[in-house]
Amino acid sequence: MKAVVIGSGIGGLLTSSFLTKNDYEVIVFEKAPYVGGRFTNLNYKGFDLSTGAFHMLPHGEDGPLAYLLKLLGANVRIMNSNPKGMIFYDGKTLHYREGWKYLSFTEKARATKLLLDVKRGKLPEGEEAEMSGREWLKEKIGDNEFVDLFIKSFLGWADSVLDVPAGELAREIKAALKWGGPGLVKGGCSAITGELARIVERSGGKILTRKKAVEIDVDSKKVITADGEEFSFDVLISNVGIKETVELIGRRNFDREYLKKVDSLRPSEGIKYNVALKGKPRIGNTVVFTLDTERINGYNEPSSVSPELAPEGYTLLMLHHALQSRNVKAERKKGIEDIYKIFPNLDGEGEILLIQTYLDGNPVNRVASGQTVEDFPIPDVHIVGDAYRPPGGIEVEGIALGVMKTLERLGLGSFSGWYP
Ligand SMILES: Cc1cc2nc3c(=O)[nH]c(=O)nc-3n(C[C@H](O)[C@H](O)[C@H](O)COP(=O)(O)OP(=O)(O)OC[C@H]3O[C@@H](n4cnc5c(N)ncnc54)[C@H](O)[C@@H]3O)c2cc1C
Repeated sequence: MKAVVIGSGIGGLLTSSFLTKNDYEVIVFEKAPYVGGRFTNLNYKGFDLSTGAFHMLPHGEDGPLAYLLKLLGANVRIMNSNPKGMIFYDGKTLHYREGWKYLSFTEKARATKLLLDVKRGKLPEGEEAEMSGREWLKEKIGDNEFVDLFIKSFLGWADSVLDVPAGELAREIKAALKWGGPGLVKGGCSAITGELARIVERSGGKILTRKKAVEIDVDSKKVITADGEEFSFDVLISNVGIKETVELIGRRNFDREYLKKVDSLRPSEGIKYNVALKGKPRIGNTVVFTLDTERINGYNEPSSVSPELAPEGYTLLMLHHALQSRNVKAERKKGIEDIYKIFPNLDGEGEILLIQTYLDGNPVNRVASGQTVEDFPIPDVHIVGDAYRPPGGIEVEGIALGVMKTLERLGLGSFSGWYP
């Protein structure tokens, strides 16, 4: 069976690895000169920043991505965060468990019950599932400012949006209760995508960089590239988004209803700030959710487990916030003000290395969390990547869950126990 994969992001590479291992003849087209898409390292002033991600997996070594990597025998090290999270509130940085003290006795009892219900699979349904997740928590726990700020920071950091429907929030909480908190990738994002590319090539697959797909002919089952070459396929895997795949195939091949749904899908957008500080690691392998800030939602420190990501004598931090308006200049100004609130001595201790904005064609997620995405309506064409993440699947964990669904449709495994 011949498989053509468009895009060498983590979604495309993960799927390609399983296809090559299952004797598919695989060819991957990547329009950029490098593989990994938004999940690879980016060298800048001697630091290994990234093209997108914070060098972190939302559920560390116990989540769905780590599971698929284990099945592939991938040589990567993921190190679970400890503590799973911290909180910047009231001018102090606290262990996440200390957050309980900001809840009254009744609120604590209600929150504990809610967590137990979610863990047991009692999730919001129907209209309740569609309501605002933050409003849902207020109804369930009480109107507690700390809880609301915490959830807002969590969503801004994990999903790059400030709210999601209750059904999605409950599933993300369920996933976190089941698989635990995040983990940093030793060596950064490219340790995973580089290893996946090696697995594809070692198993006989081909990856062609600077090769852009410009058309998919679904009748003759061919992909045409920008240099005029044609490649036939039995199975097509598209890692470039739903809207983009529809454009490559031609909108005339889809019915109106489907196009309406596709056009209504919204991305999540945000700004990432890479900060270098002199000296030893500051917070270690964890995430600090920032509640006392106007824009920044959280930050981590990838060099705490991978000192090689920063030059000697420095540590690398990544801060992030969801975009709250289209005025990027004003958003950045507010983000920088927050950074000085978190690190008041920044000018003496280090610098903001690079600010990266993710919007429009280069978003944080092509389809923001909480939107329903149906299976692609054309036979033998499958979408993978951040446009196809099943409910509750945060970032690349969601991509891994989507890849599991795709593999199931191709008859290459069963992963039913994994979907939150
Ligand atoms: C600021 C930020 C922080 C994040 N942090 C994290 C994190 O810490 N942990 C986490 O799990 N996730 C994180 N994410 C999300 C994660 O990075 C993305 O969800 C993931 O990398 C997307 O992978 P993908 O395979 O869907 O697509 P992509 O990485 O976008 O890959 C698609 C590839 O297709 C190629 N392509 C596009 N069109 C064509 C064409 N016509 N022909 C050929 N090639 C084409 C592109 O060049 C690209 O390489 C973060 C994202 C951002 C932006």
